[in-house]
Amino acid sequence: SEVSHSTDIAIIGAGPVGLFAVFEAGMLGLKTHVIDALDMVGGQCSALYPEKPIFDIPAHPQITGQDLIDKLAKQAAPFEPTYHLGQQVIKLEKRDDGRFTLETSVGTKIDAGAVVIAAGCGAFGPNKPPMEGLEDFEGSGGVQYYVKRRADFAGKKVVIAGGGDSAVDWALSLHDIADKVYVVHRRPKFRAAPDSSAKLAALAEAGKIEMVIPYQLKGLKGDTASGKLSHVTVATLKGEELDLEADHLLPFFGLAMELGPIADWGLNLDRNHIGVTQATMETSVPGIFAIGDIANYEHKLKLILSGFAEGASAIHAARSYLFPDKEFHFEYSTTTGVPNE
Ligand code: FAD
Repeated sequence: SEVSHSTDIAIIGAGPVGLFAVFEAGMLGLKTHVIDALDMVGGQCSALYPEKPIFDIPAHPQITGQDLIDKLAKQAAPFEPTYHLGQQVIKLEKRDDGRFTLETSVGTKIDAGAVVIAAGCGAFGPNKPPMEGLEDFEGSGGVQYYVKRRADFAGKKVVIAGGGDSAVDWALSLHDIADKVYVVHRRPKFRAAPDSSAKLAALAEAGKIEMVIPYQLKGLKGDTASGKLSHVTVATLKGEELDLEADHLLPFFGLAMELGPIADWGLNLDRNHIGVTQATMETSVPGIFAIGDIANYEHKLKLILSGFAEGASAIHAARSYLFPDKEFHFEYSTTTGVPNE
């Protein structure tokens, strides 16, 4: 589906730094559209350490990753940003009129006056198991890397693969709604919370979940035309194979980050970082700014607090790019206030 949008600033990445940039833009009266590959905001804080306390956010002696994100989203909310989640920006082009066209993996097209790249270490995506034919069953939901709706698995045969928290937690959650849950892991030991692992062992003992150990994913069988999965083939290291009857395969092998298409945008890239002028956070392409973990300059600190300040610098510079002939006066938030306060 092709959707078209137009905005002042497109922000690539909804991590902590991208979210604060939304607020800064709003304070200057600029509208934002924010795109993230993940289907939630929060970047590394939400995806990698939602429950870990952070100790070096100014004025928060201690705050968890998810709490920080919730507060940043709330701070940005009065400015009504538009979020395009679950999609990767795959194309960024500067047009002759000095504006930009962005295109995402699901076909969303955005016209923006300036672009702020807050892409961290790149787009988050699932680590996929090395097996052929995965794509044939992804679109239909036969193979899924995130569980969106538990109810989709009611009465279904589900093969869960992996040995970490996601695999164990979803096995525990789905076993009483699904017709059958298999857990495929290559060794008896799980890397999940001890409490969850113990629950899994008890359910396996009681015959409620079938453990398929020590096996690894080998292949998929089903109707490739319709994407209807029928069996997941698993194998031991010795090559003994087993076909598990299945409607769904849920491989949980963690998240990977890939810079992906950003490498092809003609920016001044050095070992996965974008070189910027620190005062403005502008990249080698006028109108494109980079902030947060992905931005680099001399003595750069990869800290959330530095990213916040970089966001303020980038947004002020982006405003000058958008309105080159206007003169702006610096104002404090205590003077301007925010909407609905
Ligand atoms: P990220 O948080 O990485 O977010 C970038 C987002 O951009 C991602 O969601 C990604 O999916 C998206 N994205 C990338 N490319 C695309 C694309 N092409 N299209 C769409 N979306 C895209 N920092 C501290 O200051 N203090 C700490 O105590 C601290 N503890 C940490 C503990 C751990 C375990 C980890 C992993 C990190 C820690 N950090 C800490 C670092 C901190 O999390 C990062 O500095 C911060 O997340 C960077 O924010 P960001 O917004 O620049 O990027």
